[in-house]
Amino acid sequence: MTRSNPLVAIYPGSFDPVTLGHEDIARRALRFADRVVVAVARAATQAKRPFFSLSERLEMLEEVFGDEDRIECDSFEGLLVDYARARDIRFVIRGLRAVSDFEYEFQMAQMNRELYSDFETIFLVPNVDYSFLSASLVREVAVLGGDVSPFISPSVLRRFEEKLGAEGVG
Ligand code: ADP
Repeated sequence: MTRSNPLVAIYPGSFDPVTLGHEDIARRALRFADRVVVAVARAATQAKRPFFSLSERLEMLEEVFGDEDRIECDSFEGLLVDYARARDIRFVIRGLRAVSDFEYEFQMAQMNRELYSDFETIFLVPNVDYSFLSASLVREVAVLGGDVSPFISPSVLRRFEEKLGAEGVG
């Protein structure tokens, strides 16, 4: 079978902040996708304020993926399927860590298919080193003064240092 159109996939998330686990998943997706759009969700439904602002999260993604011209970073508001449909993107990448991710991810994949029948969800499993890594855990450890340098790229570490003061994050 030959494919004439480039395969474009979207990798959505809150990326608060982008971790090495996210990075691993996005780069893995490039093994079969021609281009990946890493998209920060401006979740209007999120009750809690994010730790990093939307523009900070987007800037960090651009720094982390600056070396890869097949990755585009963007943000979207509202439903993922509306954004994807408007750009004619038919594949969404999600990362699966432990079993705990499964139920939510499964429900979301089914719901997205209800909303956009041509939309396929592709689950990727990260490198085992990142299987237990979440952005929320990284934030928690950083705020409490732990070393998060094994889990995030140096540019993200600098952002934490700027926000929290230099002590305790690296
Ligand atoms: P987090 O769950 O870390 O706060 P997001 O909400 O931004 O991150 O997650 C976006 C997507 O990336 C989700 O599909 C999530 O399962 C996936 N993901 C997050 N961290 C990892 C990781 N360490 N390994 C694999 N997938 C991950």
